[in-house]
Amino acid sequence: MKIVHFSAECYPFAKAGGLGDVVGALPKYLNQIGHQTSVLLPYYARIELSENERSLCFSTSVTLENNEFTASVYKVTDEDIGFPLFLVSVEGLTDRPNIYGYEDDAKRFVAFQRVGLQFLMAQDDLPDVVHVHDHHTGLIPFMMTQCPEFEKLKDIPTLLSIHNAQYQGSFPHEWGGLLPEFPETHVGLLDWDGMINPLATAIKTAWRVTTVSPTYMEELQQHANGLEGLLSHEAQKCTGILNGIDTETWNPKTDPFLEANYGVSTFAKARKINKTKLCNAHNLDPEVPLFGFIGRLVWEKGADVLVQALEEALNKWEFNVILLGSGDPALEERFKNLSEWYQGKVGAYIGYKESMSHEVYAGADFLLMPSRVEPCGLNQLYSFRYGCMPIVRKTGGLKDTVVDINDGGLGVTHEETESGQIVSAIERALQFFPKQTAFRKKQKEMMQTDHSWEHAAKKYASLYHELIKPESNEQ
Ligand code: ADP
Repeated sequence: MKIVHFSAECYPFAKAGGLGDVVGALPKYLNQIGHQTSVLLPYYARIELSENERSLCFSTSVTLENNEFTASVYKVTDEDIGFPLFLVSVEGLTDRPNIYGYEDDAKRFVAFQRVGLQFLMAQDDLPDVVHVHDHHTGLIPFMMTQCPEFEKLKDIPTLLSIHNAQYQGSFPHEWGGLLPEFPETHVGLLDWDGMINPLATAIKTAWRVTTVSPTYMEELQQHANGLEGLLSHEAQKCTGILNGIDTETWNPKTDPFLEANYGVSTFAKARKINKTKLCNAHNLDPEVPLFGFIGRLVWEKGADVLVQALEEALNKWEFNVILLGSGDPALEERFKNLSEWYQGKVGAYIGYKESMSHEVYAGADFLLMPSRVEPCGLNQLYSFRYGCMPIVRKTGGLKDTVVDINDGGLGVTHEETESGQIVSAIERALQFFPKQTAFRKKQKEMMQTDHSWEHAAKKYASLYHELIKPESNEQ
């Protein structure tokens, strides 16, 4: 099967969170089971490639609100990525350092989608399935089915994966000139609450919809930032498929970011070395239990309540904390303040640092995830793989993957993103930590848990098959 993914992120070229990890891994695993999967990604300025590392394969232009932009598609020549990666460049729009955060993001991502579709149109061999991810690529199923410009693609099945329904990419109808021509009577497909809403459009027009965990699928029908009614209405075409992890990139045996690599029989000694390095870098005592947090500093991750809970717990018990994150400036400030007030107990790095995230999974004893919303969550899966016990709020994918130690599981869970509950969870973790034999046994089990993409890739492949051959399903 020939599958083309459209995404705003793809590890290691452009990653802001889990979307990047998923799109950097799923295509690789699909190809390992015999499919031909490629990815189209905007060519951001942060992707630094020499002339030898890319080849130009398509040149075009795109007209957005009467302005013409020059555009090109480059293929990355490195075969080790595990799939063909195509970078879509639109002069003046994609070629900026950051992935997100510009006032004209709507225009940037519409341009990316339109040029990507033009590129597909120019191929002799059309894909069997087009797989789009989140709102940044959500107008593709609409354009493929509604715009005469892309008539040739109209019968290709489309699949939308929702990684995060909080972000929907809405923009006013006055900017409709960003889109190619379509029948005016079909404008309703674009509309949600009086705006053009790319995520809603994709839910309406994609052939199938997946979310990144089964529980998140259920939760979205109750709370989806205004789209819950639509998701309930479209429930029959929605499925939850739990993300996997890339066990090659996230492998403590070979991870180049670690001071000491390790496997299930050597983890205790090596993790101690990693912990010591991490603690030394942040002026923390490596003999004390270490709790980590890694994530975008936003309301969804519960970072605000976490600060409150940590203050209370740090005043009661002896433990250390390492914080890694960036996002909301007010939350960044609170993280910074916490590390200043509790010097020698709390270390913080405000920013995005891939290497440090690996060091935290490999050195901290526990990882805190008090998320209000967590569509899948990859951090807890990386924690398992590295033998770091997750402490999670039971929501979305966290609920699907972490069972409490009191129920024979491998983590500490709590019901709500609430300060008192996080404090109690920390207390339970601290009570369990000194039982070294039991703790090590859990660590070993965690490291042996199989969350690799192999299972999930097969589930996506069977969904694609259903889309291509609907008649075989009916039999
Ligand atoms: P989300 O996609 O909501 O951000 P996920 O748990 O699905 O959350 O994925 C988060 C990914 O981003 C993980 O790979 C995590 O290690 C990484 N990450 C998040 N924040 C940072 C940061 N500040 N520095 C390095 N990696 C980070």
